[in-house]
Amino acid sequence: MTLTAPIPIITSPLASARRQLSDAAAYLELDHGLYEMLARPRREMTVSVPLRRDDGSIVLYTGHRVQHNLSRGPAKGGIRFSPGVDLDEVRALAMWMTWKCALVDIPYGGAKGGVTIDPRSHSQAELERVTRRYASELGEFIGPERDIPAPDIGTDEQTMAWIMDTVSTGRGVTLPGTVTGKPLALGGSLGRADATSVGVTVVALEALSSYGLLPYRPTAAVQGFGKVGAGAARLLAASGVRVVAVSDQYGALHADGGLDIDALETHVARTGSVVGFAGGQPIDGAELLELRVDVLAPCAVEGVLHAGNAHRVQARIVVEGANGPTTPEADDVFRERGIVVVPDILANAGGVIVSYFEWAQANQAYRWTSREVEERLRERMSESWAHVHTQAQRTGRSLRQTATVIAVERVADAHRLRGLYP
Ligand code: GLU
Repeated sequence: MTLTAPIPIITSPLASARRQLSDAAAYLELDHGLYEMLARPRREMTVSVPLRRDDGSIVLYTGHRVQHNLSRGPAKGGIRFSPGVDLDEVRALAMWMTWKCALVDIPYGGAKGGVTIDPRSHSQAELERVTRRYASELGEFIGPERDIPAPDIGTDEQTMAWIMDTVSTGRGVTLPGTVTGKPLALGGSLGRADATSVGVTVVALEALSSYGLLPYRPTAAVQGFGKVGAGAARLLAASGVRVVAVSDQYGALHADGGLDIDALETHVARTGSVVGFAGGQPIDGAELLELRVDVLAPCAVEGVLHAGNAHRVQARIVVEGANGPTTPEADDVFRERGIVVVPDILANAGGVIVSYFEWAQANQAYRWTSREVEERLRERMSESWAHVHTQAQRTGRSLRQTATVIAVERVADAHRLRGLYP
């Protein structure tokens, strides 16, 4: 008989998001009808995105935009270009945006968008055409008072500039508040590019300090060396944390004494990957998640910590830079094993907080200094951490359960106050 490893049950992002909501709804004793309204997106749009390739051929992609909730303000959330995008993933990410915005108390509902495309296999000109066609298909669905996109995996400030231009040209007026995460020259905010990483670092340091680990030169492993992970590794290292391992989709590196993150960023800018960096030993990407470190920061995609590997994780604190990196099964294992999880809707909220600052600046046609942006970001992250942490200590529930309950309650309150139309 051959012995095979058990196949891990990987819960889908939507199943994870729904389980987190139903747990919070049960705790809050929410009315079933209201629970159903929160479990289902308010609006969804699926569009075909035909692309004329540079060689003249036509290829058809599919795009989605899901507005999960609008009760606290316009919909808000990123747009993802990735081959794995499907409607259920976008629904989950949109629901998490609603809770994230409510938790850090910014006046938005939640949304997410995506196109099922591998942006690495397209030229800039092709990406521009895909982006403009997707944005124009979404039409009146998006806009400064309706639904405000931002970058996510596979999109960046250039993507946002194209969306803003497409919407603005269609309506005959320049509308900088259409998107956030825009280039500075088009009304983007100082401090937006690093905002998620700053937020991840603030809560990681708060958590290390609360659990008494800060004075001992704590260690960290960071999964993902992109928009969130690279900045988090750099800022953690600058704050005295020994970043002993990092990874990207091509490989992973380990150095007991800590990696030189500045040198690594230079290497990545030159080669496109962490692979081949001389200052660390190559390790397996899966091994990185199981290292004995104080902080493990998954900053890539959903579902990487699951029933199949949660028993082997040796980190003291997991700080979720990514959206949905821990499945509910892994969450249960971590709780039993005393591993603290700082949930995504708190840990990675820095990005949307500065998106809100960017939108407020665009609406006022007034620019804040980078110091104003960073101070207000740090303040809001620390306040949100303190609120969640204090309440979790009092109730004995996990940080995720607590954060979700705070957020869901705020959204439920908005529904009750607005009443049901008609
Ligand atoms: N995509 C980011 C997130 O998942 C930012 C969203 C935004 O700024 O609207 O939080």
